[in-house]
Amino acid sequence: MPSFRAPRGLRDLLPPERQAFARLERLAAELAGRYGYRPIETPLLEQVAVFERGLGEVTDVIEKELFLLQPREEDGERWALRPEPTAGIVRAYIQHGMHTWPQPVKLAMTGPMFRYDRPQAGRYREFRQFDVEVIGDPGPAVDAEIIELAARFYREAGLENVVIQLNSIGDPVCRPAYIEELTAYYRKHARELPPLERARLERNPLRILDSKDPAVAALNAAAPKAIDRLCDACAAHFAGVRAHLHALGVEYELEPRLVRGLDYYTRTAFEVFPAGATGQQSAIGGGGRYDGLVELLGGRPTPGIGFGIGLDRVILALQVAGAATGEEQVPLAVVVGSAPDDTATRLRIATDLRGAGLAARAELGTRKLGKQLEAAARDGAHFAVIVGDELGDGHVQLRDLEAGTQRAVPTAGLARELERASRTHRHGLDAGRDGEA
Ligand code: AMP
Repeated sequence: MPSFRAPRGLRDLLPPERQAFARLERLAAELAGRYGYRPIETPLLEQVAVFERGLGEVTDVIEKELFLLQPREEDGERWALRPEPTAGIVRAYIQHGMHTWPQPVKLAMTGPMFRYDRPQAGRYREFRQFDVEVIGDPGPAVDAEIIELAARFYREAGLENVVIQLNSIGDPVCRPAYIEELTAYYRKHARELPPLERARLERNPLRILDSKDPAVAALNAAAPKAIDRLCDACAAHFAGVRAHLHALGVEYELEPRLVRGLDYYTRTAFEVFPAGATGQQSAIGGGGRYDGLVELLGGRPTPGIGFGIGLDRVILALQVAGAATGEEQVPLAVVVGSAPDDTATRLRIATDLRGAGLAARAELGTRKLGKQLEAAARDGAHFAVIVGDELGDGHVQLRDLEAGTQRAVPTAGLARELERASRTHRHGLDAGRDGEA
């Protein structure tokens, strides 16, 4: 047993797996750019109050999932690792006066989130999200824009079958009456509620609707629906979102029990699942409108909407679907040589190739040529550059490790030669994408 292990629920991402995340991070950055969302990064930790205020003090995240940091001084600020990105981004929007920028402000961020939850399959204490936020646009068109952006992310990541669930949860005009009605409904059935759900009844009955406990499934199915009690403005907004989604050809299911775990959401709420898996740990993303949040955190009233995609779960879903999660880059060429001790020449040639932008490795050990070639093949390299006696005449041997063919090329033109040859080969990250346009 090693003396030290990573903290429980926090994972090391080792090279092949980290590569899968890197692929999704590149896709996220590229898509954000394509849609006109600008990159932002907020600190991994914030004052606890940002989350308490932003998420509502009676949510699970605040009650038991915040990763709190021990202050060094007794009267020090209380900090917590971010459990989600929206509160920090909205805090930054206010702090930096982004309301003076052209509105709306469209932002994208990718990074780790932390929740002190009991670790289990698909639920980690550190997980990664691709997040976008639009602050300053009341919708409904932009609601459809970001849902379509989320749908495209899954598709381009290689996840073909996802289900988007959509709901509207109203606003401060219509929600209080709805919550009253919901509370009355659950009170009538209080005896059927498990203890956890009963405790939620007076504090936040919407959370019961959100519960995945099978004991309340039947009760929830018959519960009053927010969507039937929207005020005129919320109903018109929701109709607008649906009309725009229709215009974009985005398919979705209406899910009246979808309320989202966080309190600050208004109107549009959505959640995404891999087809056939709608359990608590399988949501691969979710988002919604938070028109009251900027004001709640001390800014002027400003509408907002965003989503977070759970990259860890997207990778799990890709694995379940048997789809490619991304491959490691293999060297185009490995420089080997017949004089085992001449590491300097091999390293110099590889360095020149790297300088020319090519993925190259040099054999830096002093084993025999045969072993060097075996290692090059094991690396998945397509070519070996063999340094031998004819180096004095300015030549090396270029060997195609797949075809087994070999020819002399001038050292001076090696990079150009390799570049040309590489174009006729499929390589590294592209190797698994045969058949794509
Ligand atoms: P939420 O803000 O809880 O809706 O989270 C947004 C997305 O992040 C979810 O749909 C999941 O894909 C992912 N996610 C949330 N919590 C975790 C967790 N503990 N472990 C892994 N992924 C998570």
